[in-house]
Amino acid sequence: MMQVSSHHLEALRTVLAGKVITAEDADYDTARIQWNNDIDRNPLAIARCASPADIAAAITFAREQELEISVRGGGHAFSGTGVCDDGLMIDLSAMRQVSISADAGLARVGGGATVAELDAATQVHGLAVPTGVISHTGVGGLTLGGGIGWLTHKAGLTIDNLVSADVVLADGRCVRTSPDEHADLFWALRGGGGNFGVVTTFEFQLLPVGPEVHLGLFFWGMDQGEEVLRLARDVVPNLPVEAGAQIAIGLNAPPAPFVPPQYHFTPGYLLIIVGFSSAEEHARIVAPIRDALPPLFELVTPIPYVALQRTLDETAPWGLLGYQEVIYLDELTDDVISRIVTQLPAKRSPMSFCLIFRLDGAYSAVGDEQTAFGGRRSPRYVVNIAGIGASPAVLNADRAWVRSLWSALRPFARDSGGYVNSMTDNDADRVRASYGPTKYGRLARIKAKYDPANVFHLNANIKPA
Ligand SMILES: Cc1cc2nc3c(=O)[nH]c(=O)nc-3n(C[C@H](O)[C@H](O)[C@H](O)COP(=O)(O)OP(=O)(O)OC[C@H]3O[C@@H](n4cnc5c(N)ncnc54)[C@H](O)[C@@H]3O)c2cc1C
Repeated sequence: MMQVSSHHLEALRTVLAGKVITAEDADYDTARIQWNNDIDRNPLAIARCASPADIAAAITFAREQELEISVRGGGHAFSGTGVCDDGLMIDLSAMRQVSISADAGLARVGGGATVAELDAATQVHGLAVPTGVISHTGVGGLTLGGGIGWLTHKAGLTIDNLVSADVVLADGRCVRTSPDEHADLFWALRGGGGNFGVVTTFEFQLLPVGPEVHLGLFFWGMDQGEEVLRLARDVVPNLPVEAGAQIAIGLNAPPAPFVPPQYHFTPGYLLIIVGFSSAEEHARIVAPIRDALPPLFELVTPIPYVALQRTLDETAPWGLLGYQEVIYLDELTDDVISRIVTQLPAKRSPMSFCLIFRLDGAYSAVGDEQTAFGGRRSPRYVVNIAGIGASPAVLNADRAWVRSLWSALRPFARDSGGYVNSMTDNDADRVRASYGPTKYGRLARIKAKYDPANVFHLNANIKPA
């Protein structure tokens, strides 16, 4: 372990407005924990920063002491890159303020805020930022890697709605980035992950959403997998712009009031269609699904947007062990469907799943080079395969299942790239493939300008050119 004297740690404590936590503190274990309980790392110290000045001081301290730096936003990365062994963990959980300027249609969001906190503040005004589908995810990591959710079809990725960001750089400078200020850095932040600095505030444009939206949830048993996926590939690419969809495969039906008791805990295929316009329009969109393939049960209902954002929270609570792989597919061909359906029963944990998002609509209206997003903007599917278990033995079994299904789908993908936010291993070749050579080269040059020593390397790392 790197040796840093208590004298030096004391010096850090005196300059930080926030708290410095070490193994001697009672809250050390709760402070270092990540969403993925498979991650068990012991930082030398945790700097729970309260301001950009704190972050600058923490970075300077770590560099002087030659400590590795990790940055923790919401702590949700499967890879657990928010925490490091023996180094300094910069913890943004005290920087989660959200302020809304409804007149200007802008939200300013602290680098450690969660999606739930952002939604709560924006929905007071009937506004929203497109984010993810699990409300306890951090806005920080989610945004920097892209941000995919219910509103992607209507309004693009989270980064497509970012208008500026305040960043503390590797040399401790605090800069504002926007299309007019450090435009190269602003481009890189929109998809390039945590490679370029610590974002203290994200500024997003807001769009009117809800407060009431429409949920259409349809559930079928495991024996109908092929028919469900064929139906989904017919329906989802043809949705109107005011709708969003997700296909969730392998999850168990919850013991909820809308689920007939005989189907409680039954594994199956879930198609969720969310509508952002009228109830009539939503009813019109979902009717053909029911007619084409009657589900075991369904829930079609108006729902507050904040409740929609929490609908899937319990499928992925904090405290479980997880491993995820991801791949982009242009089409859900018969062969793709057959491989998914055939391999699904091999998973061991009832919590392991495969999630498919269609990326098109507003997502595809943005040019490939307009942002640094790791993935082409042509219409496609992003397929997340997640092994989730309560014990290492179950996780190990489903890690093998995840890799096996990923390998089975790989021949149908253009390359091995995927959504960088969904990777567990952050394999260097896969990261390169996700961005493609041109974008990766541009990111590497910007990295060389703003972080030449690769101080921020615990992430889907871009090597400085
Ligand atoms: C259960 C679950 C559901 C998910 N659902 C979605 C979804 O619907 N849509 C989607 O797009 N993604 C989703 N994700 C993936 C998610 O976007 C990534 O895991 C993301 O990294 C989470 O961000 P975080 O801040 O919570 O993570 P952290 O683990 O805190 O951070 C991950 C990395 O991001 C960087 N980082 C975080 N905050 C900052 C900051 N302020 N400044 C600089 N760097 C920072 C750091 O490099 C850090 O190592 C989900 C993940 C999980 C586990």
